[in-house]
Amino acid sequence: MVIGCHLSSSGGYNAMAKQAIEIDANTFQFFTRNPRGGSAKSIDSEDVNKYLQVSKDGGINIILAHAPYTMNPAASDERIRTFTTEIMADDLERMENTPGNLYNFHPGSHVKQGMEKGIELISEMINTVLKPCHRTTLLLETMTGKGTEVCGRFEEIREIIDRVSPDINEKIGVCFDTCHVNDAGYDLVNDLDGVLTEFDKTVGLHRIKAIHLNDSMNPLGSKKDRHQKIGQGFLGLEAITRIINHPELKDLPFFLETPNEIDGYAEEIKLLKSLRKD
Ligand code: FE
Ligand code: FE
Ligand code: ZN
Repeated sequence: MVIGCHLSSSGGYNAMAKQAIEIDANTFQFFTRNPRGGSAKSIDSEDVNKYLQVSKDGGINIILAHAPYTMNPAASDERIRTFTTEIMADDLERMENTPGNLYNFHPGSHVKQGMEKGIELISEMINTVLKPCHRTTLLLETMTGKGTEVCGRFEEIREIIDRVSPDINEKIGVCFDTCHVNDAGYDLVNDLDGVLTEFDKTVGLHRIKAIHLNDSMNPLGSKKDRHQKIGQGFLGLEAITRIINHPELKDLPFFLETPNEIDGYAEEIKLLKSLRKD
């Protein structure tokens, strides 16, 4: 099982790999920079080299970088879009230091411009920043659809992917966030197969490259986006057990973004491994 959690990136790559290994994780997620700000620390090549060795020895084969929340590719304010483009382009360049990994971002909010305009702006941004030479897979995160958020519906993901240039199109994937999908109104508890069938018909299951494994503080369709600890929310342990063992999902990397400190994450990783059927 490939499982890990969100870790603080303040100590660098090598520190994150060590921390992941300590809690029996074989992957991890981190913010590329301050999630509420813009500046990024410069890449320390010594740290990256240590990381590459430590991760290899520790069985870490893939990691997930998360873009900051201040970005909005679908913003109406051109300055915000320019800032977002610069950050994404810079992050993708930096990701080339650790090639072959995943970079996830929140597609954005269309802020009253309408869903079609939002979708157009997001795909334009992808076409600007993602290059055929990049070795990173760019992930659109499934969102709750709160406010004017884009990608609360699977169809919106489809429409964005359809507008991405053919030469980079296969580098686009999806990060499937179980709290968000629940809050968006897809019934993972009573109809996991139905939801996955719908995703497959709309987007294609092969596009899912990562799972954000979170329980939700709120019921189906609430459009709230408040993550809960595993088994303590509206998804519950039975549904989560079905998710981690589902044949279409079980080999994907799972990332916990539950409200926990490191000890809590270690417990959840242990629990989830015990619930695996293979
Ligand atoms: Fe996210
Ligand atoms: Fe998430
Ligand atoms: Zn969330």
